[in-house]
This record gives sequence, structure tokens and C-alpha cells, in this order.
Amino acid sequence: MTAPEKIPADLVADWHTLHRVFIRPEDEKSRQTLVKYMEQILFGLHDFLNTHVGVTEAIPLATLARSYTDTAINREPEKKLAEVIRDIINEIAPRAVNVASPYFIGHMTSAIPFFMVHLKAIAAALNQNLIKLETSKVLSVLEKQVLAKMHRMIYNREQKFYDCHVQNADTCLGLFTNGGTTANITALWVARNRCFPPTEHFFSVEKDGMPAAMKAHDLERMVVLVSERGHFSLKKAGGLLGIGNKNVIAVDVNENHQIDMAKLTRMVQKLSRRKQTKIAAIVGIAGATETGSIDPLPQMAHLCRTHKIHFHVDAAWGGPVMLSEKYAGLLAGIQEADSVTIDCHKQFYMPMSAGMVYFKDPRALDRIVYHAGYVNRKGSVDLGIKTLEGSREASSLILDSALKIMGSQGYALMIDHGIETARLFAQKIKDRDRFQLITEPVLNILTYRAVPARFRQLLDTTQSESRRQQTDGCLDQINIDLQRIQREVGKSFVSRTRLKHFTGDNHDIVVLRSVIMNPYTDGSILDRILDEQETILDTMDIQDPTFSHNIDIPQGEHQDG
Ligand SMILES: *Cc1c(COP(=O)(O)O)cnc(C)c1O
Repeated sequence: MTAPEKIPADLVADWHTLHRVFIRPEDEKSRQTLVKYMEQILFGLHDFLNTHVGVTEAIPLATLARSYTDTAINREPEKKLAEVIRDIINEIAPRAVNVASPYFIGHMTSAIPFFMVHLKAIAAALNQNLIKLETSKVLSVLEKQVLAKMHRMIYNREQKFYDCHVQNADTCLGLFTNGGTTANITALWVARNRCFPPTEHFFSVEKDGMPAAMKAHDLERMVVLVSERGHFSLKKAGGLLGIGNKNVIAVDVNENHQIDMAKLTRMVQKLSRRKQTKIAAIVGIAGATETGSIDPLPQMAHLCRTHKIHFHVDAAWGGPVMLSEKYAGLLAGIQEADSVTIDCHKQFYMPMSAGMVYFKDPRALDRIVYHAGYVNRKGSVDLGIKTLEGSREASSLILDSALKIMGSQGYALMIDHGIETARLFAQKIKDRDRFQLITEPVLNILTYRAVPARFRQLLDTTQSESRRQQTDGCLDQINIDLQRIQREVGKSFVSRTRLKHFTGDNHDIVVLRSVIMNPYTDGSILDRILDEQETILDTMDIQDPTFSHNIDIPQGEHQDG
């Protein structure tokens, strides 16, 4: 127990102070105070981001955790707003992760345009709830308009179609969600329900549940097919929807980490012959989380059409590439999807957290309609009748405003920069003999690994599969340590994952993963990140005894077998 600090006289919770918190500041002085706080947020944080070019303070998490163990809620106020803001700027921000740093190239979270902070503040100030018209009014119709704009970006249907649906209260072109996970779950929810039309003794899977639905349709098993690069949110969907996440089947990928069409086709044919198995959906990935790879969407769409299977495209990452005139072609075939996931907080550069899901058929969402007595009554236009989430903020207002401020061309420039800088990075990796590029960037994501000189020789000359695996095992540990040390030093950041390595028996290897989306990340920064990794490698070779064993493999020994 720490001794209670002496509380200043004006720090008390009473009606007087409470009222002041809720009432609009009328006098000049209190207005100025509020504006001053906003300045502190905008510039205090901004200065922080500018002065700390690195990624985070080099302080171990365990040390931090020890400062966050007090579990009591104070009865009386502890701090004033100004103090709280100051503490956040001084103590939290430097120990959080500066995702805005151009040296932070490891994840799909990055710098956002400055105006996003203003737009987010507006959404908070208006505090609309899109669950129903009664708490959102114009925001609900604006949301329908934004949804139609995005639907048009994906499906590009005729003008008549959008005139008919843009403000149609009975139909729905898509939804805003909390993120890609909820978007994927919603898409598979719709796909699952579509498999269970009513029969004489069965109403719907929503009402009667999975056991009754399976029985009514004489099914024993339902599956979803996606490549092994599929995002784990699809597994969650399998669990939640009663499909079972082991029935979200990972199909092998080819050397480009795209779904293997021959294997997928054979699997679909085999499963379709089984009377009591139903394929609820096939998922194509447009920008895999780990590699950025894009599945052959046109062929997948064709296969789905032939077998009347719901085709979902997970474009959580890659969706905004459609705005780039140069690279939109990479997503060809997406317009044939029955449903499409796109995240707002990824390549639309919106603050956490918002995603979207779109449906080709404006009636598709009828399969998950829910009504309640007090809101979302039958026949209402409340958007909450077709969403997994209940209360929901006006993310659509932020996206719409951002599209107005940026124009599609503004987004296109950022997309193009990401893709082209990733290609530059790939070349830099190839040019350095202590690194090996593992996956070429299709979009702005690539993977590579450090391969110190002696290991490179081993890899180049080893014929034996077991020897190769052993070498890769050592390299795995080196890359794990390299990534950890770089993260802990806190100057720059790449992430790491495991990927199938297409040599010999295709075993998994540890790779470093880089996602390039910060417009300030350029060639010289990438050079410095690689320089830092080389420096770390140098210290590792000298200091870490577990490596010396591996590195000292006598010359010639690797020739055997
Ligand atoms: C990020 C991502 C998701 C999950 O989205 P969240 O917004 O993190 O819930 C799903 N699929 C892909 C391909 C992603 O990159």
C-alpha cells in the first residue's frame, strides 16, 4: 500500500464540479482552457512523435508491469484533466509504440494523416450511435451513401443499381464493423445461413440452431476452404458459427503463397461428392497478412460459380489497392465475390478501429436480420438490424471525410509508394549477402531472413534434406534473436513469422516480415534498418555461445549425404 497522497482541495467529486464537466463552457476562460488541452494533445503528442524518431523506449515489459499493479479505484479524483494529459504524454506515449515512425515497418498499423485525429474527435463530440436512426439520423443516410461508394469501387454496377439501392431502406450493400475480424465473421455468418433454406419442419438456423439445421438438411459436416495463408479470424468464425474451426480447412499454397488451384479444385470435387458435407464458403485472400500475396480470384470465382458456393474475398489489407490506377489490376476478379472484407484502419489509414464488409447481393444480409422491441423494429431503416455489433460509432463519417480530403488519387499515391518502396527494399535485401529474400512483394509486404556468410555457403552446397533442415533450424534461432534484439533496442521494428520454405521438403522457416505503408519510409531508412540488423548480427556471433557451436561447423562436414 502506498500512502495516500494529499489531495488538493479542488479535487473532490461533488455536484458542483460534475455539472461543470457536462455543461458547455460559456465563459471565455473555460473555453480557453478546453482549447489549451486540445493543443496539448495535438502538439504535445506530435512533438513526442517528432523527437522520438525511434519506435519505443528500451524498457522491459516486466519492469513496466510492476508499475501497473494497483487495483483500487480512488474514491476521490486524483488528477485534473491537464495533469492526466500531461502524464499520458510524458509517461505513456514514450513507452507505447510509436507506430507513426517510418522505422516501424513490421505491422499493418502505422502513421495516420493528421486530420484523422480531428475527424475522430468530431465523431466523439457528436457521439452518434449508428445502431438506430433515433441516435444518428443523417449519419445513417450518410453511412448508406458511403457504403454505396465503396460497393461501387468493388463491384462497379450500373448507375441504375446504385440509384435503386443507395438509400433503399429494405436493402443493404454492406456494413461498417469493428474491424476485419467482425467483417469476416459476418460474411461467413451470411454464407452459413444461406446453406439452410427453410423446409417443412425447419424455419432457420438462426432460430432453430445448428443441430436442427444440419438435421433438416441431412448434413453431418460443414466446411470453409481457405489457403493456409488465411487470417485466423476465419477460424474464429468457424468456432462461433458452430461449423467447428477444424472444418475451416487450410488448402496448400503454391510457391507464390497463393492457393493451389489444382488442389482446391480436387478438394471441392471430392467434398461435393459427399452427400452429407456442405461447403459453406471458399475464401480468397487479396493481400495475405503474412506475405501480401493475392489468390487467383478469377479462377476461384469460376470454381465457386460452377459449384454454387459462396465466394468471400478477404481484402482486409488489399482492398484500397482498388483506388490505384496503376495496381488495381492486381485485384481483378474481386467484383465476382459474393462478399468482400476491407479494413478502414489499415490501408484507408483510419485510426483504430473500423472495418467493412460488402455483399454483391443487396438482399444477402436479410439472412441475419434481427429486430428488438425498443429499437430496430420491423420495417425500420435502423442499420443495427443487420450488424453483429450493437452500438457503433460513426466510422463512416470519418471514411467519407477522409475520401473527400484525400481523393482517390491521394490514397493511390500512398498505395503506389508502399508497393514501390517494398520492391526497392526487396532489391536492397538481395544486394546484401547476409540476407535472403524469402517472398517477393506483390503488394507492400515482403519477408526475408538473415543468413550469415557461413550459413549461406551451407545452404548453397548442402544436398541432404536433414542437413538443410538443421541449418534452417540454426537460422531460425538467429532470426528470432535478431528480431527480438532489434525490437527491444527500440529504434526500428520488423515483425517475424513462420512460413513454408519451398525447397526440398517444404518445411517451415522463421522469416522477418516487413509491411511498408508509412509515406516517410524511404530507401535510406530501409538501409539503416538493414545496417542495424547487420550490426546486431555482428554482436550476436561474438557473444552468443549457442550460435558459436553452429557457426563452427567444420568446413566440409556439410558436404555429406
Ligand atoms: C488484419 C486482417 C484481418 C483482421 O482484421 P482486424 O481488423 O485485425 O480484425 C483479416 N484478414 C486479413 C487478410 C487481415 O490482414
